[in-house]
Amino acid sequence: MKARPSAKRAPSTRPSVTLASARPASKKKPATKKAKYPDIRRDLERQRAAIIDEVGEVLTNRPDIAALPDVSDQASAEVDQNFSMRIREREQKLLKKIDEALERMDTATYGICERCGEDIPYKRLKARPVTTLCIECKTLEEQEEGARR
Ligand SMILES: [Zn+2]
Repeated sequence: MKARPSAKRAPSTRPSVTLASARPASKKKPATKKAKYPDIRRDLERQRAAIIDEVGEVLTNRPDIAALPDVSDQASAEVDQNFSMRIREREQKLLKKIDEALERMDTATYGICERCGEDIPYKRLKARPVTTLCIECKTLEEQEEGARR
């Protein structure tokens, strides 16, 4: 009896031909996904810089509460501070989203819906560049979130 080693045959992964020399010289869209949304990347980077500017301003303009002698002034300063902090939190969240979007651009996963895997239409990306969901999935998600409340 022949003991056949059950050598699992590796699925014949076809060696991907490197087309370095055979690059199509057509004027069509570039083949690399990275360069798919250069204008959106610019938008994101601009927005990112704007937020950093703004947050920096909020922080430097924060009143020094302890330096205020009047109690009512202190109270309003605290309100201001809470407000600033809320802005900061919101901006930070957005900043994080922008960073994540830029990261997705680097890994060529940008513009793909997290939920259904479809391409998110360019118009939606342009309007809301940090989105990770197509409009259908976003609607579904909002419905789910609404139902949870
Ligand atoms: Zn989707």
